[in-house]
Amino acid sequence: MRQAAIMHEVVREVSTELGLRPPFTAEEYRRALSLAIGHPIEMTPRSISGRAFSGSCRAVQGAYIIQYRSDGSLIQQERIKYHQLGHITLGHVSMTGDDDRAVLSLCRALMTSEELDAEIFADALTRYALLGHRETLTEAQAGTRARIRASSAYSDYLDRIAGMRSAR
Ligand SMILES: [Zn+2]
Repeated sequence: MRQAAIMHEVVREVSTELGLRPPFTAEEYRRALSLAIGHPIEMTPRSISGRAFSGSCRAVQGAYIIQYRSDGSLIQQERIKYHQLGHITLGHVSMTGDDDRAVLSLCRALMTSEELDAEIFADALTRYALLGHRETLTEAQAGTRARIRASSAYSDYLDRIAGMRSAR
């Protein structure tokens, strides 16, 4: 089972739980996620010419602080926001300990499993938020969805999300 297919299901489930139906924006996702987890999430644009920076996410005194690169297209900005919101949704950014340094390193080492998960999450959520999904599944699609839901990776993701939400 491809990880992208699993993440697409996770994205659909989390969005539905947050009360979001496509089409929606990263700003609407931010607001709904912030309400659900009980912490403010600030997203501020940052224009940096020519550097590799795309975004960052930190936990500071009970709030999540996201910065995102704002000199690209609107879709690119949405995708960067979803990558950072993915780190929060998937429980990568710890609110306890306030360890700025550990969190700041998040988006720099691109080969960690957390970065890969955030990338796949952002791809899936960008597509889902813009285009939604079929309301009526073919038999083959329903079978694929059932297999995804039965996979261990799928429940692992949902367990992590549930764990983060119960930690509030
Ligand atoms: Zn990242």
